[in-house]
Amino acid sequence: MQSQIIKKIAEDENISPKVLKIKIDRGKAVLVKNKKRKIKPLTIGEGLRVKVNANIGASTKNPEIKDELKKLKVAQEAGADSIMDLSVGGDLKNIRKQILAASKLIVGTVPIYEAAVKSEKKYGSFERMTNQDILDVIEAQAKEGVDFFTIHSGITKKIANNRKITKRKGGIVSRGGAIISRWIMANQKENPLYEYFDDILDIAKKYDIVLSLGDGLRPGAISDSMDFFQVSELLNLGILTEKARKKNVGIIIEGPGHVPIDQIEANIRMEKEICKNAPFYVLGPLVTDTALGFDHISSAIGGALASLYGADFLCVVTPKEHLGHPNQEDIKLGVIAARIAAHSVNLTRNKRLRKIDEDISTSRKKRDWKKHISLGIYPKAVEGITEKLKFSDACSMCGKYCSLKIMEDCPLV
Ligand code: SF4
Repeated sequence: MQSQIIKKIAEDENISPKVLKIKIDRGKAVLVKNKKRKIKPLTIGEGLRVKVNANIGASTKNPEIKDELKKLKVAQEAGADSIMDLSVGGDLKNIRKQILAASKLIVGTVPIYEAAVKSEKKYGSFERMTNQDILDVIEAQAKEGVDFFTIHSGITKKIANNRKITKRKGGIVSRGGAIISRWIMANQKENPLYEYFDDILDIAKKYDIVLSLGDGLRPGAISDSMDFFQVSELLNLGILTEKARKKNVGIIIEGPGHVPIDQIEANIRMEKEICKNAPFYVLGPLVTDTALGFDHISSAIGGALASLYGADFLCVVTPKEHLGHPNQEDIKLGVIAARIAAHSVNLTRNKRLRKIDEDISTSRKKRDWKKHISLGIYPKAVEGITEKLKFSDACSMCGKYCSLKIMEDCPLV
């Protein structure tokens, strides 16, 4: 069965099944799917098509499940490869159950969110959350069928207690990172996700879950890029990656964040070196802090460069980043921007994907508008545009002076 899946995925990726299997065995790629789910697995990793993840999830201010299910549909239609349910509001278990049932794609979560929300209800504060509370949530979500978990295991007591964090321009911008850091500071105990990492690996192994080691101290401002906190956490993730490999658990490493454009290549090389070529999942990177309302564009610029240098998985950033809870339109625009970034590199990795660019160019040259539109990144957005603008042979841009037509009609060519 496994070999049939590998064969099918290798065919899609345009590589040999043998090469794909070696990449997975060496941890350079992961095959993501909880053994309890009946969906197509997703492969992420070195030399494969760069994949795109879309985050959805209810917030404390918008706890409605129906809105999140609509966003799931929009993300799937826009071409996302995976979904993360980042809910912190509403009935978390029910929301997750419905997302898992409705999603054709692999689904990831951040279990510390549910552990914190439950502890707030149980004890009045997530600072009183116990190690067992966390492990129970991880096991329960694994049993429900979640395919991959973000686990913020890299923040240790020593790092969290370093008060230089207050000097950071952007502070801590990861929700999971902030929860764990506050918990460590309040209890003066080691991070349970670090201390009990072996138990988490055992749960992951039992259900074939891939762990995405979170970057809870990722830079949230250009000025914080590659600082002590980001690098210290990454060094720990490198150690944890080796532990996971010994137990044969698939690992992805999460990365920044806000990164100046001239540091993107260094970030990718650093992750690949420290984490022994584990697949790299970048949250952006955003190349400027100023693109409010347009952070999907800032992220696509960073995501394209990161992919070129070896990132394997892009997390969608929507135009609502830093402003509010994204709606369906934001999710759609974010997914499309990330897909353009990924495809700009994928067409250099996979000849079959390059063919789409060649075909769209041929249809454009022939002014075969129907085919031209059908090959676009998101045809739905431009369908009907030719009729509306009364396109005939040439489009309305140059009309009579269509350069393509001028040359096509040229008797000398
Ligand atoms: S009219 Fe201009 S823009 Fe339109 S197809 Fe011809 S050359 Fe391209």
